[in-house]
Amino acid sequence: MKLTLFVLCTCTALLFAVRAQAAAPERVEKTEEEWRAILTPEQFEITRKKGTELAFTGAYWDHHEKGVYACVCCGAHLFSSEAKYDSGSGWPSYWAMIDGAPVAEKRDVSFGMIRTEVLCARCDAHLGHLFTDGPPPTGLRYCINSAALTFIPAE
Ligand SMILES: [Zn+2]
Repeated sequence: MKLTLFVLCTCTALLFAVRAQAAAPERVEKTEEEWRAILTPEQFEITRKKGTELAFTGAYWDHHEKGVYACVCCGAHLFSSEAKYDSGSGWPSYWAMIDGAPVAEKRDVSFGMIRTEVLCARCDAHLGHLFTDGPPPTGLRYCINSAALTFIPAE
């Protein structure tokens, strides 16, 4: 009886372990040197050191092609041109992320402001910030650095 219970418990635990693994995004981890080797100095400063590009200077704030914006570090698909809009901020802005995209949110109290930092959950790249003054239907504004993104045009 005890053995049966033990086997049952072990099986249940294993089942949960396998399911948890399937749900977690596939991680991409590199050392600072490795990131430095594959990114431009600006991409490195923004994504790995939480920098911010100057408004109206990036590649994508005034970019209107159809396609997908992926994480410049690991290639995860994060935002779609379908949810991109002109916020007037000078940074590429989206009212939603792609469904199921590995986008993480974190409270950020740097520079005396309370903001929500947006990160790539797959490689921990700093992407930008999330605000609640976006347009319908979500009211959200993902304010993202162009340097944290790479654009993949639609076929
Ligand atoms: Zn990433």
